Amino acid sequence: MLINLHTHTFRCHHAAKESEREYIENAIVSGIKTLGFSEHIPCPFHDGHESGYRLFKSDINDYFDTLHRLKEEYEKDINILIGFEAEYYPKYFKDMLDFVSPFKPEYLILGQHFTYNEEDGFYCALPTESDDVIVNYVDQALEGLSTGMFTYLCHPDLINYTGNDEIYYTQMKRLCEGVKKMGYPLEFNFLGWSTNRPYPCKRFFKIAAEVGNDIILGCDAHNPKALLTKETEKEALSFLKEFDLKPLDKFKINYLKW
Ligand SMILES: [Zn+2]
Ligand SMILES: [Zn+2]
Repeated sequence: MLINLHTHTFRCHHAAKESEREYIENAIVSGIKTLGFSEHIPCPFHDGHESGYRLFKSDINDYFDTLHRLKEEYEKDINILIGFEAEYYPKYFKDMLDFVSPFKPEYLILGQHFTYNEEDGFYCALPTESDDVIVNYVDQALEGLSTGMFTYLCHPDLINYTGNDEIYYTQMKRLCEGVKKMGYPLEFNFLGWSTNRPYPCKRFFKIAAEVGNDIILGCDAHNPKALLTKETEKEALSFLKEFDLKPLDKFKINYLKW
């Protein structure tokens, strides 16, 4: 694993308290050459409330200042990038981008955790038999990628649809085909794997293999140990091998121009 763009910090309020330095040191030990920090992007909700699982708006200066300092300090050892994991919420996407644009994040990855948004929608990791939820999830993920703002789709199989198998197949095939057509890779998510979440799941990667999607690995690190990647990487490769899939060791980062 030479590149990991999926790394959180203590600033999202649900990750370990260690500093970014520990994440970086472990990434170097693992032989990672490019380490991207992708904290959950702040969302300027219209009622002014702060989401408890994102970077607080007031912490954004510190996030960039700290990482800019570390980027310089470690530049000989590792390439550090500063970005965000963001949802595509039609109601808030422009506000999210306007809020972060003065800081010029280098890239975004799409993690579609909710349909609509977290005020009006559904948390996609909860089991649901609703056909509307899976249709909306796919619509929103594809619409998000079509903005051209993202580098890839995180945990594409986060959606925990427990309804009809044919509907799962049709909708996830639509997702895989749409993502492929736009030229983006799909992530095999290490956090879901190592914490026994319902994703990454075989039924999804079977479809991705059939469609011929590019696959990449993402740590989704919420603690520094998650960047000691060797064991998880081995397990991921053997999972993917079952479907004749092999993750890309290099892929195109969609560097943003602000
Ligand atoms: Zn996520
Ligand atoms: Zn994440």
